Amino acid sequence: MRPGRVARMPPMPKARCHCGLYGIVAHDDAVGLTHRGLFALQHRGQESAGITATDGRRVDAIRGMGLVADVFSDAELERLSGLRTAIGHVRYSTTGSPSLSNIQPLYANYARGWVAVAHNGNLTNGSALRKWLEARGSIFQTTNDTEVLVHLLALPTPSVTSDGKTGSELEHLFESLRRLEGAFSFLVLLPEGLVGARDRHGFRPLWLGKRDGAWAFASETAGFDVSRVESVREVEPGEAVILGNDGSMRSVRWAEATPKHCFFEHVYFARPDSRLFGDGVHEVRKRLGAQLAREHAVEADVVIPIPESGNSAALGYSMESGIPLDYGFVKNHYVGRSFIEPGEARRERTLEVKLNVVRDVVRGKRVIVVDDSVIRGSTAKRRVRMLREAGVKEVHLRISCPPHRHPCYYGIDFQHRGELIAAQYDDVADIAKLLDLDSMGYLSTDGMLGCATGPKDRFCTACWTGDYPIAVQDGLDKFAHEQASV
Ligand code: SF4
Repeated sequence: MRPGRVARMPPMPKARCHCGLYGIVAHDDAVGLTHRGLFALQHRGQESAGITATDGRRVDAIRGMGLVADVFSDAELERLSGLRTAIGHVRYSTTGSPSLSNIQPLYANYARGWVAVAHNGNLTNGSALRKWLEARGSIFQTTNDTEVLVHLLALPTPSVTSDGKTGSELEHLFESLRRLEGAFSFLVLLPEGLVGARDRHGFRPLWLGKRDGAWAFASETAGFDVSRVESVREVEPGEAVILGNDGSMRSVRWAEATPKHCFFEHVYFARPDSRLFGDGVHEVRKRLGAQLAREHAVEADVVIPIPESGNSAALGYSMESGIPLDYGFVKNHYVGRSFIEPGEARRERTLEVKLNVVRDVVRGKRVIVVDDSVIRGSTAKRRVRMLREAGVKEVHLRISCPPHRHPCYYGIDFQHRGELIAAQYDDVADIAKLLDLDSMGYLSTDGMLGCATGPKDRFCTACWTGDYPIAVQDGLDKFAHEQASV
């Protein structure tokens, strides 16, 4: 393995996702397609990126800090060409620091072979497992929870099958997955092939696709579109799909499925051109906007989105209300590469440079601003100030999800109630006053869930309702109980 390169880091968005995954088996251009796929998944993680590739004998990798465009040089990609199986990862850390050692895919040699692992999610019992493994001699190379799976796989006691024989590495992998609690979509590269596995709740997405007879995985279908892979289906919660080096594909149910997909993927994280949990993201966002117009109507002259995640919902609001849509903010797409400053100063200045007001659209108008969420409130406050400075008559903020009042433990970076403005103020009117708004409206939880097809209880809504599908402590307790009986 070569050490990664360090590139400049992009500024922080208001809330960040854990990671994006891509993988393809037995294709002549596996590395090139993975590289392309990662570009399309860049929005899921901008701190670091990596590709690990193999031909079954040689394993090689490129890993570095920064954006996909910075990390992979043509010369390095050329070095990996000819390796017909590859996995790739883009990362933002919700556990572990942003350092070179934490870049994924992780790779390790162990007594029975080698493994490379890429992870999207967050393990709620990761710390307990780490302590248990360290007490048995494991030496961790990283500070992220993903490495726990690598050490579980390397444990010296292989699985035993029901007929008493020693199990395969795949059976050992499924046994290891059953020890994990929390949110995870994993790509696990082994000498015998590539495994894509999703936790039993299916918090984070994972898709299966096919091109030229070769099977592939991606976090979102947009990753497939740019690499001309046909999207076949989503990997199911509690399912592992095993792609053999010979082009084979088979499915294993390693856990009973109890779906709790992250609805915030629909609201904010996923690309609008992706499909997710059985729906097109753009269509769901348009429905969110229409529902928002029904729940929080107001007389106004124009609807403007906060680009770009507010675009689809603003369109839906405009279509439902009959109030024209226009572009009141223009986004500068080049900020992330060139305008870097530490701390709050960086955040404030980045906001100023990142979005600009189109004065002719808003001056003297009653404006409805549609955004996907308000997390800390500082970003929204700054944008309202920009509109006031541009001469707006009234500002009505409409949010296409309910108020965020609870932390997320399943792979999104708001982990403390203290960071959430809606956790500090029960009354929305108080938040509106703080943000200097004429009015404010959040979508109801029921209204939001009704915008996706299928049963409402298949979604996680914990950050809005406090109804956690997995209590963090439950994960810790379950593991402690298991170990006490080993
Ligand atoms: S708590 Fe919120 S952000 Fe986290 S997985 Fe659930 S819906 Fe998604």
